[in-house]
Amino acid sequence: MHELSIVTHVAKTLDEIAEENHLTRIGSVTLEIGEVSGIITDYFEDCWNYFKKRHPLLTECELKIETIPAITFCEDCRKEYPTIEYGRICPYCQSEHTYLIQGNECTIKEIEAED
Ligand SMILES: [Zn+2]
Repeated sequence: MHELSIVTHVAKTLDEIAEENHLTRIGSVTLEIGEVSGIITDYFEDCWNYFKKRHPLLTECELKIETIPAITFCEDCRKEYPTIEYGRICPYCQSEHTYLIQGNECTIKEIEAED
């Protein structure tokens, strides 16, 4: 239930923002979700749809998801490569001294208030 806990977290954040800005409805929210964040976007949308019916602030809120590609950096040859395709082993020098530089995020990028 990873997705549901994230939906709950996002909704809570939106609640706080709405309160600070005196919003009663949120028109849309844009989330950036990394390719290797472990979030299944289809399932995430299901959770969202379930949740928003029970949440007056979000009844009209449209969910937009932007996928962030996963990129790994190799410390040995200092090249970047796509994580999904090659995993932890650098395709240029076969080094294992690599780390993820992006693709693990789940952040609220943009919120539009409804007027
Ligand atoms: Zn390398």
